[in-house]
Amino acid sequence: MIREPLIFEISDKGKRAFRLPKLDIKAKKALFEGLAIRDAITDFPQVSEVEVVRHFTRLSQQNYCVDLGIYPLGSCTMKYNPKVNEKVAALDGFAQSHPLAPVDMVQGNLEVIKLVEDYLGEIAGMNAFTLQPSAGAQGELTGMMLIHACHEARGNPRKIVLIPDSAHGTNPSSAHLCGYTVQEIKSNENGTVDLEDLAQRMTEDVAALMVTNPNTLGVFEYDICKIAEIVHTKGGFVYMDGANMNALTGICRPGDMGVDVIHINLHKTFSTPHGGGGPGSGPVGVKAVLEPYLPIPRVEMKDDVYVLNFDRPGSIGRVRSFHGNFLVVVKALAYMLSLGPDGIREIAEMAVLNANYIRKSLEKDFHLKYTTPTLHECVFSDKLQKDHGVSNLDIAKRLIDLGVHPPTMSFPLIVHGALMIEPTETESRRDLDMFIEAMKQIAREAKEDPGILKSAPHQSYVRRLDETTAARNPIVKWEREK
Ligand SMILES: *Cc1c(COP(=O)(O)O)cnc(C)c1O
Repeated sequence: MIREPLIFEISDKGKRAFRLPKLDIKAKKALFEGLAIRDAITDFPQVSEVEVVRHFTRLSQQNYCVDLGIYPLGSCTMKYNPKVNEKVAALDGFAQSHPLAPVDMVQGNLEVIKLVEDYLGEIAGMNAFTLQPSAGAQGELTGMMLIHACHEARGNPRKIVLIPDSAHGTNPSSAHLCGYTVQEIKSNENGTVDLEDLAQRMTEDVAALMVTNPNTLGVFEYDICKIAEIVHTKGGFVYMDGANMNALTGICRPGDMGVDVIHINLHKTFSTPHGGGGPGSGPVGVKAVLEPYLPIPRVEMKDDVYVLNFDRPGSIGRVRSFHGNFLVVVKALAYMLSLGPDGIREIAEMAVLNANYIRKSLEKDFHLKYTTPTLHECVFSDKLQKDHGVSNLDIAKRLIDLGVHPPTMSFPLIVHGALMIEPTETESRRDLDMFIEAMKQIAREAKEDPGILKSAPHQSYVRRLDETTAARNPIVKWEREK
């Protein structure tokens, strides 16, 4: 196997992909001369067209993607993204419109924004949505800012945000960025929020509880209504991390469970590519009490035309330029319309069925710390394989040899040696069986031939990396040899 060089290493002075003919008119001074034109870029690679195309084609073939096969990264919802979404987003009226175009020229685009806000409101049971945040994590920060603004308007922004110990790392980061102190809530033996611990910590200093439902173990918080009541009684808000909405769409609505604020990841639940595949979008939905604080501008209908309303004195302001990642929103709308209400319910039904099929098929081969029923994902651990000196890292690396992308590892933190598997609804029975067979083979190898796991992967372009050295001595900049 050849090592693909860096594009800098195949650079030869003077090579070009194309050349323009010499000007036969007098050159005009560029509009921005002296302002925005940068000097020549030193060491910029100089390569021919065929070299560029072959370099990036070879790199792309060393990569793994949802178009190649199952990508069961727990919590990430790496579903297959239908190509029709891309086709719709590439239409000129969407792709070529300028974010500063006058509103009467982009009525259709504003309608897309309004429609997606309304559909998400219906799916999540919330009164209003903003589509500005660029990802789930920015949605969390936006939600925290809305909560802060509302408490502040009531006279006291409060100090603390409560977060269960199973939460995604972005939850405490977002609360902290917004100036709150984070307190951890313990999980009980079912892996859900410990109600007693919550009741004890829930004081009038607490601004909000951030809860993920179903949580990162894939377990539904069956006590969510009681949880919301405990928080509301002390004047706090319930923020729901909606990254796991894939388990709930069309079946139940967070707004009906007492949730006051939620973010949804369009690039997870609503099928827009993510992970190197494109930008994200983390819409935030709120109940009516928080609506006055939503980011500006708001798309509103006035005298039968869509307008942008900036005149909202309570607003936290903008959290992003323009309307967020608009084309991601277009793709999500194409996805929702192509499925329809019944199809949207089927997302959750199939996602839960697929995850439970995997769980049931592998429960004798891999250890399950929590035996509580799970929805759209399941979290195994490497406990049984540890007896043979095999860790979750070895299992993940060996899966690469067997042609499948490894699951999420070592998260959630409450499961030591975690292997968190989320197949999503888009995998066929055949692909699920292939994944299960690969995992079973690994369980056998752990007992009979652990060495093959410890040295995996054997078939990939890049072999086992020295992660310690990579972290301690990262080489991230190429320098020309002197
Ligand atoms: C993915 C995820 C997030 C963060 O979302 P991004 O869009 O990656 O910023 C937060 N919480 C959970 C549970 C997630 O799975």
